[in-house]
Amino acid sequence: MAFARDLLTAVSDHSSIEWTDATWNPVRGCTKISPGCKHCYAETFSERFRGVPGHPFENGFDLRLVFSKLPEPLRWARARKIFVNSMSDLFHERVPDVYIEEVFRVMVEADWHVYQLLTKRADRLRRLTRQLSAGAVEHDHIWLGVSVEDRKYGLARIDELRRARAGKRFLSIEPLLEDLGEVDLRGIDWVIVGGESGPGARPMAEAWVARLRDQCRAAKVPFFFKQWGGVQKKKNGRRLRGVVYDEFPAAEVGVVPPRAHRTARLHVAEDRAKELEGRLGPAPLLEIRRAV
Ligand code: SF4
Repeated sequence: MAFARDLLTAVSDHSSIEWTDATWNPVRGCTKISPGCKHCYAETFSERFRGVPGHPFENGFDLRLVFSKLPEPLRWARARKIFVNSMSDLFHERVPDVYIEEVFRVMVEADWHVYQLLTKRADRLRRLTRQLSAGAVEHDHIWLGVSVEDRKYGLARIDELRRARAGKRFLSIEPLLEDLGEVDLRGIDWVIVGGESGPGARPMAEAWVARLRDQCRAAKVPFFFKQWGGVQKKKNGRRLRGVVYDEFPAAEVGVVPPRAHRTARLHVAEDRAKELEGRLGPAPLLEIRRAV
């Protein structure tokens, strides 16, 4: 689930995305699924490096598992908000269940961070989280979200999210492509809204955004207005009728463990990642972009 401002810092423990601190990408690459994907920045960025030997995006936007990245949050001692898979969609149909389960396991173990996991594959999010136990999924520091760009695709995702097992649920309404009308915010803990940016950006009307803000106010849901977007994103800024909306839900996180404990957990997670790589291997996924 890609965002333009993250391109310079993709795959890193720093991020310029307004609502997060870091990105964690144990999967790279994706395939388009709905109108919100039209100008996918992750694809544009990844394809720029296709064929560059040794580059993390040597295979462009082809879907692949990055086993070495699985334990990464356990290496970060400083607590932060982590956007999971800014350059992919964890719930893509070709990512194996066991791989997604391992991502959840790391999030549970490295519980001093907040995780923001966003998908457009809401049906799989719902199905898979219902298969897992509450202890594997339902934690206050693991926020599960869906992208919403329009009524046709987006509103159905919200219903799926409501039925998913989750500690916290959020919506990333970006790029907002039309007036969403009345949105059912029951069970939703956070709403982000933003317009599309970059060449060919589709317009977003102020009234659509204001209507969402008002619904969040009425439902007492924290509201984060990310950007107006447009071709000149910086110039357009992120004020809505003169106000910057930077609200987040409260979250209970764990205490950062002593270094020795953290290192021990990290080594166990590294061993699991190696074992998983032995079982799954990246090869079957390399050609997914052309095969689908
Ligand atoms: S789901 Fe997200 S990462 Fe995948 S193509 Fe669409 S915008 Fe890009």
